[in-house]
Amino acid sequence: MRPLSAKLSAIAPSATIEITEKARRMQAAGTDVISLSIGEPDFPTPAHITKACIDALNRGETHYTAGKGIPELLSAISDKIVQENRIPCTPEQVIVGCGAKNSIYEACEAVLSPGDEAIILDPSWVSYEPFVQIAGGIPVHHPMHPETFQLDDTLVEKVNEKTRMIIINTPSNPSGVILNNDSLRLVADICQDHDLIVISDEIYEKLTYGKIHVSIGSFPGMEDRTVTVNGFSKAYAMTGWRLGYAVASKEIIAYMNKVQQHTISHPTTFAMYGGVAALKGPQECVEEMRYEFERRRSFVLKSMDEMGLSYAPADGAFYAYVKVDGDDAKVAAHWLEKGHVAVTHGSAFHHPGWIRISYAASMDRLEEAMNRISAVL
Ligand code: PMP
Repeated sequence: MRPLSAKLSAIAPSATIEITEKARRMQAAGTDVISLSIGEPDFPTPAHITKACIDALNRGETHYTAGKGIPELLSAISDKIVQENRIPCTPEQVIVGCGAKNSIYEACEAVLSPGDEAIILDPSWVSYEPFVQIAGGIPVHHPMHPETFQLDDTLVEKVNEKTRMIIINTPSNPSGVILNNDSLRLVADICQDHDLIVISDEIYEKLTYGKIHVSIGSFPGMEDRTVTVNGFSKAYAMTGWRLGYAVASKEIIAYMNKVQQHTISHPTTFAMYGGVAALKGPQECVEEMRYEFERRRSFVLKSMDEMGLSYAPADGAFYAYVKVDGDDAKVAAHWLEKGHVAVTHGSAFHHPGWIRISYAASMDRLEEAMNRISAVL
């Protein structure tokens, strides 16, 4: 048999999913593993959102619908983007995808031609590099500042005539860091000076602890150069609904829609009614979950202090990103095998020497996990 796709042979499987599966296998074999390795809120989806979906099913909203998303959801997103993110937007500039993951991938396909370079900032979420590779582009990694995790002028050294795109993520998975105004301004200036597009992954926008989230798409001159991506998974505990979206110029959205039309057609029709309820309904649920994450964050960071471990500025998302001595993959394997706590090693994010601890778990489990980590340190 001839080899399968050369393009895919170079792509690593998702490290976060692999670790979670290893933890699940240990659990199935009877070991009490505490899984702090995946980015998933442990709360149920708020009831008014599930009700809107069930009502849609009962009304018979079970057929194909408009390719970019149902009109109600396109306008709800466009209103949200104008009001909250201060980005000029009309419903024609929105496309709803099967999760933010799907939208970022479509944006890479829409912008990159074969051989185009895309700058990825490390530590970087596991899927950015594969998105670029699958779209035929070349990932170019650039490290964030080792302590502040912000950007400086060295970023421009990565730009050449092949560069087409920069991918940013604020608040960041895995570091939790929120990009400050200077970092955003630097990216915006580089994009304008070198005719680049920025994909801004803002999926953790609602989960911030004391700092304010700012969208680069709201900077003057960036409205046509930015693909702003967001979704429902993290803010509304809707990971399994597979609902996310992108906002960009009509031209970029039309190209993304070409990918969408020939692949997924559109996200699940009745799920999109849940998305409308999420954006248009009461928002207290978002603050309740954020508040609970903040409580857990304080506890985990205090535990790290007590263990003498240093960590990245934990401004947002639900991760503590911790510096460890030695080989991070070995440290993570040790914590899993001896302490029965699953975490993700920084190498998975192109950033050796660090460990990501997700605090999207109950306080009881976090307390137990911190005791176990401290015992095997
Ligand atoms: N971006 C980042 C930074 C993420 O952490 C995740 C989820 N782990 C996603 C995008 C994808 O989210 P969704 O469930 O909307 O596809």
